[in-house]
Amino acid sequence: MVIQIKNNVSNQEIQEISKKLNAFHIIYEGKQLLITGSGTKSLPVEMEKEVEQYWVFDNDMQLSSRKFKKDTRSVNFGKVAIGGNSKNTILIGGPCSVESEEQIRQSAQLLVKLGLTTLRGGCYKPRTSPYSFQGMGLEGLKLLAKMREEYGLTVITEARDATHIDEIIDYTDVIQIGAKAMYDQGILRACSKINKPVLIKRGFGTTLQEFVQAAEFVLSGGNQNVVLCERGLRTFETATRFTLDLCGVAWLQEYSNLPIILDPSHAMGYAYGVPNLARACTAMGIDGLLIETHPNPKIAKSDASQQLDHEEFQSLFNSLHAVASSIGYKIV
Ligand code: PEP
Ligand code: MN
Repeated sequence: MVIQIKNNVSNQEIQEISKKLNAFHIIYEGKQLLITGSGTKSLPVEMEKEVEQYWVFDNDMQLSSRKFKKDTRSVNFGKVAIGGNSKNTILIGGPCSVESEEQIRQSAQLLVKLGLTTLRGGCYKPRTSPYSFQGMGLEGLKLLAKMREEYGLTVITEARDATHIDEIIDYTDVIQIGAKAMYDQGILRACSKINKPVLIKRGFGTTLQEFVQAAEFVLSGGNQNVVLCERGLRTFETATRFTLDLCGVAWLQEYSNLPIILDPSHAMGYAYGVPNLARACTAMGIDGLLIETHPNPKIAKSDASQQLDHEEFQSLFNSLHAVASSIGYKIV
């Protein structure tokens, strides 16, 4: 249940009620909210005079639901707003991993040339094998920060586990929580205590309910800047790396108020399929696309097969405008 407390109730009283209900207390759009689990279906009678309004839910998709907030939330990635009534589809580009200053600079320059604003690059990589390249760590974060400074870009990088979350929060503008890390309570809780936008990727075996509940960890802790990212599920099919769940995206658009970004690169696993998938995703009226691109994909240290080279990225970018504008959106 989400309970909006009247404005004239003192902070001390709010703290007492919150303790009694074992509720989260947040301030949302100037409103004092208390949040309990969806198992609470009615208000304690003695509380009724303090309550402005309240929302009852069938399950723990609460703050992220359209039942609580009808319109899609607006989240700022640097100067660019997505969601709300922006009709923006933000195109986030950059390599899977930051590998060197020369490499990440080339990606940064590509984005600047195309008028794009948001550069991705992993520094702590959640690899499936301990023998693969694990990322540049802090050195990589410093390179991303340098690109932000030199080119005015917004940077996004992923947190692999809770041990380095403070470092990630310090260095990046948008925190990406990867598909393998989205259940990590240390990451989710740390991200709930800040105001920077958090992009949560759906695990490849994660139900939509679990996905939105991961978002609820961040929202109920006080950070309202959450964005969801669909990046493919594991199915019986092995010809492609994963299976992009566009039905799930349609479900999220119907029931959730969080902006949605799609990542066809990781879903497909092969560069040849990424442009068509990206156009299909754009046609759904989504809030963003995350596309891996590398100056020379053949020598990429991670996800080599799925990264577009810069020419392919540019040609995809050129083709997206017509798709986006046909449904009233724009690529930013
Ligand atoms: C990535 O974005 O490079 C990545 C590792 O993604 P995911 O968490 O979706 O596998
Ligand atoms: Mn990758």
